[in-house]
Amino acid sequence: MDQGKKSLLLVLLVIVLGVVAVLLFLGRARRGSHGVESIDSAEKTWMMCTDPGCQAKYEIAKKEYFEFVENNRTGMQVPGMKCGECGKTSAFRAVKCGKCGNIFLYGAKGLDYADRCPKCHYSKMEQDRKARGG
Ligand SMILES: [Zn+2]
Ligand SMILES: [Zn+2]
Repeated sequence: MDQGKKSLLLVLLVIVLGVVAVLLFLGRARRGSHGVESIDSAEKTWMMCTDPGCQAKYEIAKKEYFEFVENNRTGMQVPGMKCGECGKTSAFRAVKCGKCGNIFLYGAKGLDYADRCPKCHYSKMEQDRKARGG
């Protein structure tokens, strides 16, 4: 094989590798934008009904909740989910405090951490961050 053909093959090889790399990158980016699909269906999240007459607290699949948010959100506004108890669309994501067991709305207090307990002020996010040394 002469030198010209060799370098032509080399150029083709580089182009093919480049295309493969781009396709892999695009594939990953597309999967990344659909975070809901990557949620383990065994994972649970707490829900809390904000209706004063109900205030039900229960767990649902985290995936189910995020799918609901994905399909129903308008801008930054996260809609209320249909309550498993009273049927009103007044259920929101909640957190169970890892320290005192209190169940409260996720980020409702507008405090530094969305999972800070309004009762005992414990935050798992804060503890995790401290544990990582930041
Ligand atoms: Zn309810
Ligand atoms: Zn607490």
